[in-house]
Amino acid sequence: MRISECGIKTVSGFRLNAKLETGFWGPGTLDPGLFLFGPVTVDFHLFSAACSFQAESETIVPVRLSENTTYYLIRMGSAWIKRQREQYHPRGKPLPPETRASLAPFFIPETLESVRIVRVPLIENPAFYGTLLTSRKIPLLDFRRAAGIVFVDTVLLSSRFLSGPPPLSLLFHEIVHVVQYRLLGVSEFSRRYVLGWVENGYRYEAIPLEQQAYSLTARYVQSQEEFSVDLEVEKTIPSCSGKEETTE
Ligand SMILES: [Zn+2]
Repeated sequence: MRISECGIKTVSGFRLNAKLETGFWGPGTLDPGLFLFGPVTVDFHLFSAACSFQAESETIVPVRLSENTTYYLIRMGSAWIKRQREQYHPRGKPLPPETRASLAPFFIPETLESVRIVRVPLIENPAFYGTLLTSRKIPLLDFRRAAGIVFVDTVLLSSRFLSGPPPLSLLFHEIVHVVQYRLLGVSEFSRRYVLGWVENGYRYEAIPLEQQAYSLTARYVQSQEEFSVDLEVEKTIPSCSGKEETTE
């Protein structure tokens, strides 16, 4: 199988250097919440491990989602996010003081204070995946292969892919999503995420909310020069359209 058949992509600055089966992230790795089909460069000798997922996908023939199905997914996604947040938030830990100090030049204090971190063995897919998507042959996003995910202000980190403290770049990426959630509200976040996926060929890396998180993280990693993520996200998300109180 050739690399091109696996759809593995390269995007500036991100390099996956890992034993995928053991979930070990090597030194110098920047792995902000990536999926195996996400924007990374994969070392050739790791290719077979990465490819095993892609090979599973080869049998999937993408079909076009109807509007009804798309909006069903948005509603189900939104409900899933809210339930997950309620489930995990109570056992979340605040960011350690040194992490907050490192990220302080980039996020407003309220954002960093609100974040909770939860370690899980594995990030589970939503229950509605099983009944809807597999039968329709949609190349769904497999959250079990993500290192991290955010539910509003609650960041889940997968022990499958992370041992030891998470890299700052990963936390940075996830906290960009926290800012997006705060400005959009859960329903609008879900709507933009699902539509961004459907309208861009079901590609995780093409979802605009992800592109924003990756590009702001790359800016942080490359320059370390102070900038306000909250301000940058606000520029692209006009003031709180669709904002709602959902979780507390
Ligand atoms: Zn992300």
